[in-house]
Amino acid sequence: MTSWVTSSNGHPDFPLDNLPIGIVSPAGGTPRPAIAIGEQVLDLHAALEAGLLTGAARDAVETTGATLNTLLARGTAVRHALRQQVVAILATGSTAERLSHRLLHAAADCTLQLPCAIGDYTDFYAGIHHATHVGRLLRPDNPLMPNYKYLPVAYHGRASTVRPSGAPLRRPNGQRKPASDPVPSFGPSRNLDFELELGIWIGVGNGIGEAIPIAQAADHIAGYCLLNDWSARDIQGWEYQPLGPFLAKNLLTTVSPWIVMPEALTPFRVPAMARDAADPPIFSYLADASDQGAGGLDLALEISMLTPAMRAQSLHPHRIAKSNARFLFWTPAQMVAHHTSNGCALRPGDLFGSGTISGPDKGQEGSLLEMTEGGRAPIALPTGETRRFLEDGDTVILAARATNGRTSIGFGLCEGTVLPAPGSA
Ligand code: MN
Repeated sequence: MTSWVTSSNGHPDFPLDNLPIGIVSPAGGTPRPAIAIGEQVLDLHAALEAGLLTGAARDAVETTGATLNTLLARGTAVRHALRQQVVAILATGSTAERLSHRLLHAAADCTLQLPCAIGDYTDFYAGIHHATHVGRLLRPDNPLMPNYKYLPVAYHGRASTVRPSGAPLRRPNGQRKPASDPVPSFGPSRNLDFELELGIWIGVGNGIGEAIPIAQAADHIAGYCLLNDWSARDIQGWEYQPLGPFLAKNLLTTVSPWIVMPEALTPFRVPAMARDAADPPIFSYLADASDQGAGGLDLALEISMLTPAMRAQSLHPHRIAKSNARFLFWTPAQMVAHHTSNGCALRPGDLFGSGTISGPDKGQEGSLLEMTEGGRAPIALPTGETRRFLEDGDTVILAARATNGRTSIGFGLCEGTVLPAPGSA
């Protein structure tokens, strides 16, 4: 199927098969819901005003302003209806083409906003190779904690510091205590890192005390994005015991601002990661045949870096790792079922991070902590520079793309640049 928006036909990220939803501000305009299509965006309020939306999809867009929370809260059926109507608007032969100047904005002229007012953000730890690599740095003989294969481990993050791609990261101050120092000191983090993660947006929520059954959990997921869980490893190593991540993690979390809907990812569904014969059986509240059969995602992920020296030489960003969402030990549906298994309430627009997604091999690490073995083995860049951890001026870019013989869909950029700590140059 092709579109009259010709830039979308064969587009590697935003063809008619993708249609991610977001909140955009056109030049001089207020934030509004939109759908990415090629190098353009479809303005959903303009589509509404042109009478191109009907029924529940029209009602959903009519009540949507600067955030998508209420739209996502309407659930899977309304999302399907909206998607079908948008396909009809954009498909080749649609009479909507004659309204193109009213319906479309050039993506380059739009500012992408955070898509939701995020009530709560939870970060999981479902990337088993990351958990193994990091565990090995601390416990060489027994890297995975005993709970790892029984439940999807997570901590509650900080929603107030989630920002869309492009937001700068100010190097945080904090307490650092290298093993060689007898006492901690306060100052700029020296071990600033990124984490390559999949973000998961919650659609329909649940009330307190209402566990979401695993068989229905996928219906509560409104879509996906990329997520960079920036991390200050030196602050983390000193502060985290015994209650877990705190100021090392809530400095900033960057998301790719388009929400890629589950429907767009259907052709790229794969089985959940296979468990070893020796692994414990899955508790029934986390076990579902269709989730095990198709709850995984074959989504290629990559991390690139651009340093000030590379920028000065007009070099392109340099890819430092490739990974895949297949390397998640727990599925997004299992995260939803586990998160609510005690009756915890999720709300529309809540955000999950999957946990850092690393592959088993060299070149597949989702963080510098793993790539450099805790900072001991610096990585080399095309300029001859090396990095143990991030330096001021470094840009980190995450990307995701799913492809098959027929189509390709992408997530758009998730990038951020490190600024000097407050009070320094
Ligand atoms: Mn994380």
